[in-house]
Amino acid sequence: MDDEGESIHVKVGTIIVATGYDNFDPEPLGLYGYGRYDDVITAMEFERLINASGPTGGKVVRPSDCKYPKHITFIQCVGSRDLGINPYCSSYCCMYALKNAQLIREKYPDAHVCILYMDIRSPYRGYEEFYRRARELGITFIRGKPGDVEKNEKGNLVVRVEDTLRGKMLNLETELLVLSIGAVPSRGTKEMSSALKIPLAPDGFFAEVHPKLKPVDTTVDGIFICGVAQGPKEIPYSISQASAAAARAARFLISGKAKTEAITSFVSSDFCIRCGICIDTCPYQAIRMVDGKIEIMEALCKGCGTCVASCNSGALEQRHFLFSQASEQIKNVFGYV
Ligand SMILES: Cc1cc2nc3c(=O)[nH]c(=O)nc-3n(C[C@H](O)[C@H](O)[C@H](O)COP(=O)(O)OP(=O)(O)OC[C@H]3O[C@@H](n4cnc5c(N)ncnc54)[C@H](O)[C@@H]3O)c2cc1C
Ligand code: SF4
Ligand code: SF4
Ligand code: SF4
Repeated sequence: MDDEGESIHVKVGTIIVATGYDNFDPEPLGLYGYGRYDDVITAMEFERLINASGPTGGKVVRPSDCKYPKHITFIQCVGSRDLGINPYCSSYCCMYALKNAQLIREKYPDAHVCILYMDIRSPYRGYEEFYRRARELGITFIRGKPGDVEKNEKGNLVVRVEDTLRGKMLNLETELLVLSIGAVPSRGTKEMSSALKIPLAPDGFFAEVHPKLKPVDTTVDGIFICGVAQGPKEIPYSISQASAAAARAARFLISGKAKTEAITSFVSSDFCIRCGICIDTCPYQAIRMVDGKIEIMEALCKGCGTCVASCNSGALEQRHFLFSQASEQIKNVFGYV
């Protein structure tokens, strides 16, 4: 425990980024009274409560008075599917809420469990059946996005929500409120993206090269991504991706070498005015400025030609597509350049 952190240098052949996610924190926005009322907890905190090795030995009690709550409500999509916060679906919170709701009903058959949802997402094998089982166990589902949460004179929480299927405003009294928080990119994701030169998708998680054909590859050969680092997903799909990434990485390790593109670009320093425009335009982050000079990292260059088109000084060219060669081709076809 007293050990100091240290930097170590390791020579590696490939890298698999599997840095997962952080839980969305509802406290700064004060969502649904989290941070204001003790009995509003996150799903992660609930998992600790119901876990036999947790602080209560698996007994579900509400934090304010350590009493067993007979009425427990879950709110879905907290920090997800909200254009003002995170627009994406965190994909696993519907299923973990169904799991926890069923665990409560099995452990405390007299408990009333209610799930407030916008949509229940239960794709993949067995998941829809799991959802149906939750309904059969008597769990109440109310479709609506809650507004305010207040505490009443009995010390219980009151959730104001419109039941959109019945078109009715409800004031739900509950003793414990569990927020089904979504995923956010893990701390350090941006720093790792710039250190490894692998891009992020608009949602802030690491971007794959191709969603169908190369789902665990990045734009840098030899660097792979898997699990929630690539985007929210459950354990089985994180494991599938991890296996795929390991297999992709093994190809490089076994061959012991990587192929570079033949058509890489190069710079003529005589013409370069060091404006740095090409650095920002390269989609593969293959260009850098070293000691005031532009340098193309050939191992990263994919020969896309974007930098060549962006250089107003004509300082960049691509091998096998030199200006002189292109001019000759045009001359052959049109008779002039
Ligand atoms: C409350 C809750 C309940 C859930 N229940 C279920 C469930 O029942 N079933 C299910 O399938 N899924 C469930 N999930 C989803 C599940 O947690 C994820 O699918 C799974 O954890 C993804 O695994 P991962 O390895 O990609 O990421 P993670 O589990 O987040 O692992 C990433 C690891 O990388 C480490 N790390 C991060 N950054 C660095 C760094 N810079 N350097 C070194 N290490 C780093 C982290 O510390 C962590 O150990 C639940 C999620 C939540 C929030
Ligand atoms: S998985 Fe369910 S709870 Fe989670 S963001 Fe998607 S719809 Fe909302
Ligand atoms: S865009 Fe052209 S001139 Fe500007 S730094 Fe890059 S190579 Fe040099
Ligand atoms: S050719 Fe494409 S990948 Fe190569 S340095 Fe230029 S912009 Fe980057």
